[in-house]
Amino acid sequence: MNHKPQPLPANKKIALVAHDNKKDELALWAKKHAEELKQHELFATGTTGYKIEHALKHPVTKFISGPMGGDQQIGAKISEGLIDILIFFWDPFEPLPHDPDVKALLRIAAVWNIPVACNPASADFILNSSFINRAYDREVPDYEAYIASRISTFN
Ligand code: PGA
Repeated sequence: MNHKPQPLPANKKIALVAHDNKKDELALWAKKHAEELKQHELFATGTTGYKIEHALKHPVTKFISGPMGGDQQIGAKISEGLIDILIFFWDPFEPLPHDPDVKALLRIAAVWNIPVACNPASADFILNSSFINRAYDREVPDYEAYIASRISTFN
């Protein structure tokens, strides 16, 4: 597949998701980075969103709860180019009923080449990157070329 550059803006749209056993860890991390996070636009799955909003005293756009489809909503936004960074503290010790959604979310983040952090250390690295407050050209699949090549086989 061909790729093309697509800018991540200076002001990032950051999605936050944490499984139940990881919610306190994410809330603690978010509090530690409150000032940096408030410079960006925050999104989250339902329960995580309430927790982060409470921890930061700052508005978070909330999707529905992960097991009810919130992970998929975030995945859809990533594929639309409307989420720039994913902070996803998933639980490595517990199988969950919505494991397929978890896998799907991580897959779509890989497809669209957005930065992903699955633990506090990688999240620290992302927030401390020099790219966090400036535009960054990421390579994304060239969807227009892809669909054009697919439909040309119909003619
Ligand atoms: P929640 O969803 O924030 O609504 O708990 C997270 C998840 O389990 O994917």
